[in-house]
Amino acid sequence: MIINTFARNLYIMKPSHIEHIGIAVKNLEESIKYYEEVLGLECYNIEEVKDQKVKTAFFKVGDTKIELLESTDPEGPIGKYVEKKGEGIHHIAFAVKDIDNQLKKAEEKGIRVIDKTSRSGAEGLSIGFLHPKSTFGVLTELCEDKNK
Ligand code: ZN
Repeated sequence: MIINTFARNLYIMKPSHIEHIGIAVKNLEESIKYYEEVLGLECYNIEEVKDQKVKTAFFKVGDTKIELLESTDPEGPIGKYVEKKGEGIHHIAFAVKDIDNQLKKAEEKGIRVIDKTSRSGAEGLSIGFLHPKSTFGVLTELCEDKNK
């Protein structure tokens, strides 16, 4: 039993929860209105992530957040995504521990990783992406709050 637990901790990500769902939108202000006025959620943070060429807006739903993403550059990842596929769910983010090790382990298992090591994302989280070609079509983000 001890060996099983040890192996599980080493090799399985076991995310604690869905940290957030990333949704690509054309217009942040307009979409915020929907989340606030129809769903009754409160936007508690708006933040630009220059690295990813996006402006983000955050809402809490239990332990999970909704992250709205508006591109600040048509050539950025969200700009290209919206151009090609339109607005909609862009990625799912799982909260994990020891993110750099998780990215390394995923790569060792043959998963195509977009980030070999974590980088900084919105809200001070360390983030890294797994490629949708390796995750059955879902762009998957791993994130860790290293300040916790
Ligand atoms: Zn995200």
